[in-house]
Amino acid sequence: MAAHTGVDSGFKFHPNCLKMKLTHLCFADDLLIFSEASVSSVKVIKAALVEFEELSGLKANPSKSSFYCSGISDRVKNKLLTDLQMKEGNLPVRYLGVPLISSRLSSADCGVLLDRITDLIDSWLSRKLSYKFNRFLWNGKDVEAAKAKVAWSEVCFPKKEGGLGLKRLELLNLRDIAKKFLRFEVGNRENIYLWLDLWHPAEILIEKYGYRAVYDAQSREEAKLSSVIHNGSWFWKPARSDDLVDIQASLLEISLWPIDKPIWTASRKGVFVSSDTWEALREKKEQITWWKLVWFPFAIPKHDFILWLAMKGRLVTGDRLLTWGYNGDVNCVFCRNQLESRDHLFFECSFSYRLWKFCMFRCRVDNVPIVWEDILQLGLNDWGCKSLKAMLCRLVLGSVVYNIWCTRNEIKHAGHPKTEEQLLKKILWEIRTRVVGKGRFPKNKENLVFCSLWNLSAEVLC
Ligand SMILES: [Zn+2]
Repeated sequence: MAAHTGVDSGFKFHPNCLKMKLTHLCFADDLLIFSEASVSSVKVIKAALVEFEELSGLKANPSKSSFYCSGISDRVKNKLLTDLQMKEGNLPVRYLGVPLISSRLSSADCGVLLDRITDLIDSWLSRKLSYKFNRFLWNGKDVEAAKAKVAWSEVCFPKKEGGLGLKRLELLNLRDIAKKFLRFEVGNRENIYLWLDLWHPAEILIEKYGYRAVYDAQSREEAKLSSVIHNGSWFWKPARSDDLVDIQASLLEISLWPIDKPIWTASRKGVFVSSDTWEALREKKEQITWWKLVWFPFAIPKHDFILWLAMKGRLVTGDRLLTWGYNGDVNCVFCRNQLESRDHLFFECSFSYRLWKFCMFRCRVDNVPIVWEDILQLGLNDWGCKSLKAMLCRLVLGSVVYNIWCTRNEIKHAGHPKTEEQLLKKILWEIRTRVVGKGRFPKNKENLVFCSLWNLSAEVLC
């Protein structure tokens, strides 16, 4: 286009595009071309499009294009429309739902765009977040606070503190907060601001002492550190205030280096690392005890997530529905005669206890606990090590909880629930496949017994 719009070409810029010599804008596969509404300018544009077509094989489709003009006679307009073979569009035109106008857009004008962006983010979340996190955690886009399964702020705690270990990007984007982590080692003093950067042991000087200190030191806010160093030594004007005495008293603690060196104090290595910075910025919670029962190297991801919700008491069980004013059936779908709660489903209900007990026997656990708290206690005491038995027990807990929860949902939503036998088969298969795929354990008497109980090939032993 630029090659065609030289001084002698006959092309004239649109009056509002002359200053920046703008001929066109591209967005994705859309093209907007601007020019003065004259026959000679349109001729140049046509020639440029033809040449582009010859070079690239991409042809502008006149039937899908529109021509917008104003301030010209009907005769010129008709001539231009005939030349371009395009239909006439009416201004103001909307692009991606937003009106293209030269004045400022109102918030109502942007509403359509915001809706589209929200839809896009929603669909992205649905696709990207495994197991449709957003639907599980927040019941979709219209969040009713009381019904959100786990608050976003809670999800962002590390796994050890009961969250999912996601990082709140908006916090990492807060540069002003993060700025306090940037400290300088003083070198050639040209890169460090005397009052605005963190180089002094006290803190950022202007933040601690205010503008008064800048004034008293007969300095400027934007002064560099070099203004108070001469020939490798500090060179301050005599202190005229207590604050300046304070500032100068600490100078001897500071070593002067050959070059200025920025240090990111939020990281052990001294350079910016987002995980360390997140660690320094985030709110801290007390560690929870059960996290290692949910998150461990061989855990099956879809099981993790349901088990995590169960640990936090956030699965939407009948007892919770009741507190939200739900007046449908809230009884256990398996035994039909008890209020459905987390502790009933896992595993006080006779149906789920049978499954749980069967699998625990295969892990050679004899006194199989029935109460949730007792199960956690057993897990914390006995399943923390790297033995095959500990791994099997943790996998069983995740798999049984997950499969009971899925079956419960299928029964509730009139799906095709598995029979007890099918369910058991599926649980055993899931665990066996996981161990065979991931595990390598010492060849000893106990592990040989587990191999035969779980029908594991000898490959898992070494
Ligand atoms: Zn029951």
